[in-house]
Amino acid sequence: PALDDVLDRLVRDVEDWPEPGVLFRDVTPLLADPPALRVTVERLTELSSELADGPVDKVVGIEARGFILAVPVALALGAGFVPARKAGKLPATTHQVSYDLEYGSATLEMHTDALVPGERVVVLDDVLATGGTMAAVDELVAATGAEVVGNVTMLEIGPLGGRSRLPVGRFGTLRTY
Ligand code: 5GP
Repeated sequence: PALDDVLDRLVRDVEDWPEPGVLFRDVTPLLADPPALRVTVERLTELSSELADGPVDKVVGIEARGFILAVPVALALGAGFVPARKAGKLPATTHQVSYDLEYGSATLEMHTDALVPGERVVVLDDVLATGGTMAAVDELVAATGAEVVGNVTMLEIGPLGGRSRLPVGRFGTLRTY
């Protein structure tokens, strides 16, 4: 079956979560389905390669669902895995970026020595919504001197316009809702 059909069948819509008025796209049924998980990882790997148009040194996964996808993609690309985590989780010296959410703000961190200048990096997450999270991780990568060569997600919530916050041509996704 086509990937679009697999995603439409196995991404579950949950209304009013995490708060009233929000429609949450729950990817856990897809992750639990062996062929769907396999094809999703394969397609994310291909998309990352296409965007990178060259070698990839590291895949940065964004806590927490980005971790799940970033590790198998990193293995398939011959790259390493680097976590971007919520504030207070990483033990060594970090770069920090805070960004606005609809209500309040959030802070993400990455170890300062997790990437070195010149490394080519793909940033991976499950869903692009407003793009604030992805743009914040781009800033964390830039702070190390490494280069983002691709921003990749499984799903994009198109009407929220997140991709406009990323450089033209650097974002790729498997499915836009
Ligand atoms: P943004 O910063 O683009 O507004 O939100 C993206 C971040 O929030 C991602 O880390 C993503 O995991 C999470 N997120 C936002 N909306 C959804 C959603 O509908 N489904 C899932 N699975 N994650 C979401």
